[in-house]
Amino acid sequence: MAKTIDRIVKKEKEKDIVKKVYNKNQRLFVILEKIKLYTSRNGVLHGIKKIEINGQTATVTTHCGQTIEVRDSKNGRVGRWLRNRWLVEPCAKCKIPDWKLEKYSTTRFVKRRVR
Ligand SMILES: [Zn+2]
Repeated sequence: MAKTIDRIVKKEKEKDIVKKVYNKNQRLFVILEKIKLYTSRNGVLHGIKKIEINGQTATVTTHCGQTIEVRDSKNGRVGRWLRNRWLVEPCAKCKIPDWKLEKYSTTRFVKRRVR
């Protein structure tokens, strides 16, 4: 019974993320950890299997078995790709579920107003 409830709660949480607005100033790793997606250099969108944060860098392991070293830079390539939702194609090997791609396309990144 408890297991079932846990599963429902988890599903509800996932639903919550769908229309979530991420603050642009948030650490890139926090965003990566939440959306579990990573855009590679050539614009292929990979699913993140594991992310290990070590200070200013993180090691991202994709579902297709790639290990990528990522720097925490909001203005870096990855941040830009993710913010603008540019992608050439989702990785075939990662098999990113449709709901995740949909979530990615509905996620908005907003810039915090700074006075
Ligand atoms: Zn992949």
